[in-house]
Amino acid sequence: MTGVANEAESITGKALNALRKYPLCDRCLGRLFARLGYGWSNRERGEALKRLIVMELHRRMLEGDDTARTVFLELAPRLYPYSQGLYEKLTGKELGPEACIICGGTLDDFIRKAAENGAALLKAHDISRFVVGVRLSGGIDRLEDEIKAAVRAEHGESIKSEIRREVGKLIQSIGTGLTVDFDDPEATLLIEYPTGMLWLQVNSIFYKGRYWKKGRLISQAYWPTPTGPKYYSIEEALWGLLSLHKAERLVLHASGREDVDARMLGTGRPMIIELKSPRVRRVPVEAVVRAANKNKALVEVEIEGSASRREVRLYKEGVARTTKTYKALIVSRSPLSDSIIRRIEDFFSERTIMQRTPKRVLHRRPDILRRRKVYTIKCKRISNYTMECVIVAEGGLYIKELVSGDEGRTTPSMSEITGSRMECVELDVIGVKHEAEITA
Ligand SMILES: [Zn+2]
Repeated sequence: MTGVANEAESITGKALNALRKYPLCDRCLGRLFARLGYGWSNRERGEALKRLIVMELHRRMLEGDDTARTVFLELAPRLYPYSQGLYEKLTGKELGPEACIICGGTLDDFIRKAAENGAALLKAHDISRFVVGVRLSGGIDRLEDEIKAAVRAEHGESIKSEIRREVGKLIQSIGTGLTVDFDDPEATLLIEYPTGMLWLQVNSIFYKGRYWKKGRLISQAYWPTPTGPKYYSIEEALWGLLSLHKAERLVLHASGREDVDARMLGTGRPMIIELKSPRVRRVPVEAVVRAANKNKALVEVEIEGSASRREVRLYKEGVARTTKTYKALIVSRSPLSDSIIRRIEDFFSERTIMQRTPKRVLHRRPDILRRRKVYTIKCKRISNYTMECVIVAEGGLYIKELVSGDEGRTTPSMSEITGSRMECVELDVIGVKHEAEITA
């Protein structure tokens, strides 16, 4: 046969070849040529090709090509409904379609249903910005690869990307306020083809702010034990946000942490609150502030605004690059003379401290040697044996050990340079500054 079949490399030639091998609906045929032409659906591509093939075969028949007639009669069910008129004219018989080998002719329906159910699911979770993900089951991907290879379709796309795009488009048009957003989606709608199962992967909500810990014996993270939490925690103080956002879990990402028995005063500590799997996303900021400050007497929170996952990473990496200000109540075994106080203040100006991991945290932290700087220490005597010191130091320095020396694991220390045993009995953090804020 001459004509379309011989022009195997032409688009109609390839389409005819595909249909001789496999029954394909308009969409699944058109998808083999998805990257040719612009602004059309694959259904339009498939329909155009099938009409063209009918016309081409009809032309050959009129020119007396018997093979063209055989091919047409054989392919007519696969060219349905565009072949119907000519088929009935030639044979006097009625024609029915042959089901598509990939989708059984149900892809349009599938896309419509997935979009309807998907839009409902997104709305139920208060989502407005989303992306669609598609997963194939039942060997569809192998079948698709086989057909693509047999037809040598170089300009096709996968059924995955067609479903992803078409469902996304349809949801945008039926679900008001729903937008596909690749940069900052609030959720991923996962669709399985052909089962039609849907899942929603909801992204966390993040709030940026600061906290002040006004009481002692409060841990940062929730610390469960078989008999209840070990301490009251900052996270627990924020639990009002869980019900506000109907979220499953709350995680606090803070820039460092103070000891359980230290307060966090002054500037407060920068933090990001993460709410996992929220069902309510949009909440007035006043309600957020109120929910975060339910136990203001112990934990006070300031909310600066929303944050991104990327900022969480920056916070965590930035822990060591902070300057912290502490207020320490220190008890000395020998009387605190003016000269001892002056010696402490002079010696610890811009002083580098070598510090091994303190004995008290060795059970949960690796034993490493760190170098941290003390910038200034200012002391005020309270009694003969006690003083209050304001210490400004690089983030990551353990202050209690800077005072005691931790049996030589921290050097130099206040005990070491005064020759009098000293101990920090109360510690508060009164300032946390990021390097960026300091240099700015
Ligand atoms: Zn199909």
